[in-house]
Order: sequence, then C-alpha cells, then structure tokens
Amino acid sequence: MPVLQPDESPVMLSALQHYLFCPRQCALIHVEGVWSENFLTAAGRQLHERVDRRGGETRRDVHLATALRLTSQRLGLTGVADMVEFHRQETSQDESGRIVAARLSGRSGYWRPFPVEYKRGAPKSHRADEVQLCAQALCLEEMLGVTIAAGALFYGETRRRTDVAFDSELRTLTEDVAGKVHALVRAGVTPPPVLTKGCRACSLVDVCRPGDVGGRESARRWINNQIDEACR
Ligand code: SF4
Repeated sequence: MPVLQPDESPVMLSALQHYLFCPRQCALIHVEGVWSENFLTAAGRQLHERVDRRGGETRRDVHLATALRLTSQRLGLTGVADMVEFHRQETSQDESGRIVAARLSGRSGYWRPFPVEYKRGAPKSHRADEVQLCAQALCLEEMLGVTIAAGALFYGETRRRTDVAFDSELRTLTEDVAGKVHALVRAGVTPPPVLTKGCRACSLVDVCRPGDVGGRESARRWINNQIDEACR
C-alpha cells in the first residue's frame, strides 16, 4: 500500500523523529498544531541557526548546500535538510555501476549528495535521529535519481560527526515510520500520555501532563480499545 493516500498532504520530515520519540508528541505537534519550546529545543534551535539559512558554498570539490527543501511523493514527506554536501566526481556511477551522483546546474562533473543533520546533545540509544536523516536521503534519492549510501549526524554536545549507513534495515524502519505517521494524521486522534523517562526532556510536558491520573486512565482505555479491536 502506498504511504500517501490520494488527496492526503505530505507530513514534515521531523514528524518521523517526533513519532519515534513519542506518538502522542507527534500527534500534538502534527495533528493538533501544538508547539512549546523548552531549554532543550531552544538549544537545538540555536545550533540550527547557522544551517537554517538557505545558502551554498563551494570549496574545491565539495559544494555545501544549507536549508535545502526536500520532498518525497512516494513517502508523502516534505521538509528542509540542514546541510547537504555534494562531492564532485567524474562519473555518475560508483564502482558497482549504481548511479550515485547527479548534475548540478552551472557546475561541471557529477555531484554525490551526502546529507548532514545537526542535533543538540549526544548520540542517543534510539534511532529517531537516524530515521530523520535516512528520510532526507530517501527524498534526495527520489528527487535526483541517485542512490545514497550514507550521511552523517553532527551532535552539539560532543562536537563530533557520526556517519550513518543507509542500509536496508534503516530504510525499512524509515518507510515503516512514515506509514505510521500518515496513519496517525489520517486518524486525527491523539494517543493518551504514557509517562516515560523521555517526558522529562519533552517540550510539551506541561500541555500533555503525563503524570495526571486522568492521563493514565485514558492510556489504559487506549490499550484496552486496541486489544478489543484486535480481537474483533
Ligand atoms: S510528556 Fe511524555 S507522553 Fe507527553 S508528549 Fe511528551 S513524551 Fe509524550
């Protein structure tokens, strides 16, 4: 089944990361339009300021494009990539014959895209950042007609770049999450809160109130409804 149904709008690339962090947070932001900033999101915004301005710069055989708009018709995604490095090479193919580089207007040769996403904090135990980066790569692949083997995450706390391989497992996970986000938006129902360790870092904790008894009861109802539906 295609991820995007006829007459559905694309969802933001960031929604995939929000969904993996917490489906309720994803629905609050992308279904209900709630947004709240805490010190962590503010730190993330500052880190992004340099790469949030659209621009480009060529250094020898590398062109750096910031704030590049991306879209995928197939997955129903849209958004902005912090930075995409384009590495110049003489042919469009790699050693195994795959098309990995495309023409860029006004520039000679072929240019191999390599997305780089900026994140505050340090590398995390979950795969939300990798999924968001892979989603950018899937958009670039569709837009440029190339295959992208890898990208990188840059973490503000460690000031280090971590390379991410877009292997079949990460691609499958990313497409699966894109489908789940579309199903969530299509249903238009915000899941109830589930109190986790992640709630402490969540910018929506005051809106969500995951510790309330009412929240726990609605979470129980939500789980019971799902069990009932599965048994029908
Ligand atoms: S406070 Fe917790 S349950 Fe509520 S949206 Fe944030 S992470 Fe999800």
